[in-house]
Amino acid sequence: MLEKEIAEYLVKSSNKSLNVKAFLFDMDGVLFNSMPFHAVSWCKAMKEFGLSITEQQAYMNEGRTGAGTINELAMQQWGRQATPKEIEDIYKRKAEIFVSCGTAEPMKGAVNLLNSIKKSGFKIVLVTGSGQKSLLDKLNHSFPGIFTPENMVTAYDVKYGKPNPEPYLMGLKKAGVSAWEAVVVENAPLGVRAGVAAGIFTIAVNTGPLPNEVLSREGANVIFPSMQYFAEHWDEVCGGLR
Ligand code: MG
Repeated sequence: MLEKEIAEYLVKSSNKSLNVKAFLFDMDGVLFNSMPFHAVSWCKAMKEFGLSITEQQAYMNEGRTGAGTINELAMQQWGRQATPKEIEDIYKRKAEIFVSCGTAEPMKGAVNLLNSIKKSGFKIVLVTGSGQKSLLDKLNHSFPGIFTPENMVTAYDVKYGKPNPEPYLMGLKKAGVSAWEAVVVENAPLGVRAGVAAGIFTIAVNTGPLPNEVLSREGANVIFPSMQYFAEHWDEVCGGLR
């Protein structure tokens, strides 16, 4: 498995080999089935502040920090950047609505996959644009023994956020590995773009409503249909990456 995809990666990234030691995991839509809640919360919160975003747009913007998403829309619809106060107010409201949506469950297959990866001796680092405290706090409960502050990059750590490669470059640093020693696991188009721009072999899991085409256009090296599929095929994926 993955022979052809790795060969293509080596050509495109100009790396000589792929010698995987670490996995860099996105959170929303990968570890938690939280994207439907995020999409709804963005739509409602933006509307209250006179901005409009469709759920489809929310999925397309996934991966940006809250400030990044708000500024993107403010530029389009107001013709200017949002002020720090506007960003704070909108993001606070969005986070409130998100919490009121209920509990985002762990993605089916995610716990098994993380445990298998850990058992196989790879490092695991979280790389998320999210600053949603309710989910970040839930990580340890849902995925016991996997994540500590030392192996997490969140909205609070980055300056630019995805689609800039910055968060994944920080993830590499936290794992103590080079781009050719890591794999990114992402569900969002902009997250895939960030992983690819960081020179990392990027596995897209298409857990949302967007077509695969959107993920391959951003350079995903391989696309899996779900985290469950990834978990069920871990042995083959692991064999292919070693
Ligand atoms: Mg995501």
